[in-house]
This record gives sequence, structure tokens and C-alpha cells, in this order.
Amino acid sequence: MSDTIAAICTANGVGGIGIIRISGENSAEIASKVFRPKNEKNKIDNLKGYQAAFGCVFDEKGVIDECIALKFNAPYSYTGENTVELSVHGGSAVLKQVLRAVFSAGARQATAGEFTKRAFLNGKLSLNQAEAVMDIVSAEGSAQARSSAAALGGESGKIISEIKDILIYAEAMLSAFCDFPEEGEEEMENDRLFEKLQKAKSLLEILITDYDKGKIIKNGIECVIIGKPNVGKSTIMNLLSRFDRSIVTAVAGTTRDLVEETVDIGGCILRLCDTAGIHEGVDEVEKIGIERAKQKIDTADLILAVVSAENEIDNEDIKLLERAKDIPVIIIVNKTDLNENPDISLIEKYGTVIFCSAKHGEGVEPLRQEILKKIGLNNLDETNSFIANERQLSCVKKAYKAVENAIEDIKKNQTLDAVGVLTEEAIDALLTLTGENASEAVVAEVFSKFCVGK
Ligand code: GDP
Repeated sequence: MSDTIAAICTANGVGGIGIIRISGENSAEIASKVFRPKNEKNKIDNLKGYQAAFGCVFDEKGVIDECIALKFNAPYSYTGENTVELSVHGGSAVLKQVLRAVFSAGARQATAGEFTKRAFLNGKLSLNQAEAVMDIVSAEGSAQARSSAAALGGESGKIISEIKDILIYAEAMLSAFCDFPEEGEEEMENDRLFEKLQKAKSLLEILITDYDKGKIIKNGIECVIIGKPNVGKSTIMNLLSRFDRSIVTAVAGTTRDLVEETVDIGGCILRLCDTAGIHEGVDEVEKIGIERAKQKIDTADLILAVVSAENEIDNEDIKLLERAKDIPVIIIVNKTDLNENPDISLIEKYGTVIFCSAKHGEGVEPLRQEILKKIGLNNLDETNSFIANERQLSCVKKAYKAVENAIEDIKKNQTLDAVGVLTEEAIDALLTLTGENASEAVVAEVFSKFCVGK
């Protein structure tokens, strides 16, 4: 950590602004070698923390670009180190030249995730907060962005700390009792301990059961639209995505293949897939489309099954619903504007029924609400923070298992020593989650997933 590192921090490609971050002991000295302020008074050495200066960056050939240099003094920076950020115009050629000049002045290329890793090692972030940084950067849906921001702000950390505090308290009780056992107090101590461990267990349980919600927020859900040709699948998809993506025509079977679209519903990313109606395809292309649609159904998180109010429900509709039986289904009775009244008693048992007239844009809001309800994200508090990934989940599960066993041991009147070992195991698992005692390998693994510049 003693050397000074630098990297381009903004996305690759053309942009209004591009930023090069220099972090480490000598960042000001290095930045001074490539930055010349317009006003001599604003030399980087003279700047205080959080102060910026306008000027230009140059290399041995001359001026590269205009630049604003922003200075941060340790520990008040992202990494916790002395940092200078050079903002220049966002073309990649400019940025590369500036970076090269910065390297010539003494910095070395930052490796993937190294800024955030330094922030972690300098105690600016916990390991799970560092993971939240990565999630924010890659967030597609607004709910994910908000939830990751909550995680970065320490929301999920708060629950973890609460559990940790309870367990540390329990452990202290245990060791006090083991060291100074008082006659007759054992039972009372056991009750208090039991209560503490139960509380920790129920909090851990919430984290585990909410994991799937967090995962949906993070990864979005796979949603497949099925239905006979011409019932209005493409129209519904267009309506949901408010964007003409698949071709809508009055000829049956026009959706010849899978059409996919990403829609943000209530902050959650829905990967919508409009299928070629699964009917007996006539030509080869259609047959391939139908085969792929069938595969999609098997892996979907949610199915929107469309029937048309124009006709009575028939065997083909039922066959499709049967096909999707094991997956959450919303049945959309479309074309209600035609004022036909098909008997829906035959299909009600397959899923919630929503009526709509996609062509006239009616019934979309109830449909959106039902989708959120089905995936358990209605009434979602976007600032809720969830454990973010399998690594964190496995730590929480480990802690849960240890606490569960400790509770069992108390019930069976095992020695408090044994309970103490399990409580310690649970605390250890949580410390691995936050990174407080994570092994180097775990830390390296977490940061290996970052990109350069973060
Ligand atoms: P798909 O084959 O299931 O994808 O059906 P399309 O979305 O291509 O729609 C087939 C036809 O039904 C088109 O002519 C649409 O304009 C029409 N359509 C779709 N939704 C409605 C609706 O709510 N009411 C009426 N009257 N027609 C609709």
C-alpha cells in the first residue's frame, strides 16, 4: 500500500468528462508534475483538502487538455489516502495520454478494485460495503441502486452489527458464568442466554429469507409471455415496455421467435420474453421459436399467460396453462374492449386473473401491481438493504446454524462451554462477512470481481 496508484475511473468511451484518480502517499507530488494551474497561487501543493484548481495537464510534448484537479487529504478521501482526481475531457485518447503522463511522474497502474481495496484496508469500508460499491456500479434497476446505496450506507451492516452485539453479549455472559459459577443462578442465566440467542437467530433468519428478494432486485426476474397466436402478447409486451419492440400484426403467428425486453417495473428489472405461441408450428423457423419458448417457460420466474376475451377458453389455452403449472402465473384476459364475456371459471385455478385491453392501454396498472405482488416486491421499501451475494449468504447461514445448535445445546442442558464455542463460531462467521477477520484469500476473491478504476 506504500506506492501511489492511478487509473481512469470513468467508463470507457466518449464522454463529457473523464476522471483519472491518483491515490497514495505521493499523489500530490505526482499530480504537480503533470498539472499546471492557470493561477500560480493554486498549485496543487497549496490546495487544501476538497479544494479544486483549474489549469491544464501536460506531458513532455506539451499540453494534453484542460483540467480540473481536485485534492483530497488523507484520511478524508475514498481510499483513505492522499488523493488527487484529474478531470479532463472524456475521450479515451486524452485519458490514456494523461494516465501515461501520471505513470511517468511516478504512479503505477491500479489493479482491479485496488482503490476500493485500499478503502477497505484503511477502514473506510467494511467488506460488505465494498461489495455494495460493486453492486451500485452495476445496478440496472432503480430498486437495486437504492438498495445497494442503503447497503453502502451501512444499512445491512446495522443488522449484522446488532446480531454481532447480541452474540458478543451472550458470549460475555457465558464466560463470566464459566469463570465464576454461582450456585443457583444457572437457571436464570440460561433463560437470559436463551432469549439472546433466540433474538439473534430470528434476525439471522430474516436476512436469509429476504435474500431471494434482494436477489430479484439485483438480477431482475425472467418473465415469459405465453398464449395462443393473436391473443395480444406482443401488444401487452409493448405496453409494458412502452416501446415498439416486437411486430404487432393481425396475422396469427407473427411473433416468429423470442423477443426479449428489459422493463423496469417498480424499480425491479423484468426480463420480458414474448414467445411464439406454443402451437403446432408449420415452418422450420417457427418450430425453432416454439422449442426455445418451451425451454424459456421451464426456467422462468414468472409467466404471463394471455387469453383473448374474444373467444371462449379452449383446450389449447388450458394446455398452455398446464405447461406452466409449476411456475407463478398471472393470467391476462385481454381484449376486454370487445365486450365478450368468456367463462373464466376453467382457468381461475391456474393463477390470478387480470383483465385488460392492451390495445387501449387499459389494465396496465393492475397488471404491474400484480406482477410486483407475485414476486413479493409490492410494498417494497427500497431503502431496505439485503445481504448482497452468495458469499455473504454463506456467512449468515453459518452463523445461523451455529446459533441454532447453541440453542439446542441449552435445551439439552449441555455444558455452557459447548454453547460458548458455538456462539464464538457464529461471531466468527459474521466477522468474515464484514471482513473484520476475513482471510486474505476471501478479500482477494471479493476484489477480483471489481473492474480497474474502482
Ligand atoms: P400475439 O400474436 O399474441 O403477439 O398478438 P398481437 O399482440 O400481435 O395482437 C394481435 C392482434 O390483436 C393485433 O391486431 C392487435 O392490435 C390486436 N389486439 C391486441 N390487444 C388487443 C385488445 O386489447 N383489444 C383489441 N380489440 N385488439 C387487440
